[in-house]
Amino acid sequence: MTQNETERKRMAAEAVLESAWSLFDEVGSYLSPSGTVKGDRPDFAARAVELIPEPREQSDRALQRASLAQVESMVAECTLCQLASGRTKSVCGEGAMNARLMVIGEGPGAEEDRTGRPFVGKAGQYLDSWLSAIGLDRTLNTYIANIVKCRPPENRDPYPEEAQACIPYLKRQIALVKPDAILCVGKVAAHFLLGRDDTLHAMRSTVHRFEGIPTIITYHPAAVLRNLELRAPVWEDLKRVASLLSLPVAKGRG
Ligand code: SF4
Repeated sequence: MTQNETERKRMAAEAVLESAWSLFDEVGSYLSPSGTVKGDRPDFAARAVELIPEPREQSDRALQRASLAQVESMVAECTLCQLASGRTKSVCGEGAMNARLMVIGEGPGAEEDRTGRPFVGKAGQYLDSWLSAIGLDRTLNTYIANIVKCRPPENRDPYPEEAQACIPYLKRQIALVKPDAILCVGKVAAHFLLGRDDTLHAMRSTVHRFEGIPTIITYHPAAVLRNLELRAPVWEDLKRVASLLSLPVAKGRG
């Protein structure tokens, strides 16, 4: 429901409450020998706000009970931020429940927007090779999602208000998927997920926690494709993930 629809529904609810109150007054006057049986006039506008909550509030209430499939449907219809107007398809995320690893990027790119699937372009194929190097697979034991579910124009970073509007979906996905660990790819994703504003270099060296789940931060695959010198640090980060999850490590990488 948009803000305008919410306002319209609140005005309608207020009018209905007012009418019911007047009717009650007339019936009371008729039945009671002393006249009216009503107390003070209620604040109908405030009652209407209670009855018809803000779109964000409605969405949050529904999200708390939503399954993964329902989260996907909610995302497909979501208009909570301006990115809705430019999307071809929303990109909710995909992968395995009870995943060993959840990979979180910042947002969909052009190919993802076209297909509705996360990390499917060149960077996605490269990410698949990272997963394979530590014995993981995006369909079998990994879940992949983004901070924002709709593509920011020209692949710009999501604005804080867009990330803030969207991140409840990701939090619900994490609660449902229950990954053993999280791999955050790129500074922007780490910034919005963990509320950190350090350099990626500084954030890489520590195992962070997101709601108790060990979280490792590394470079975005697209950044590594642009600067191959980042392959070595990424390999160090992947080995840290493998060690956390007791996974086998492919020999000869780095
Ligand atoms: S980016 Fe997220 S909050 Fe914004 S419209 Fe898409 S699904 Fe909704």
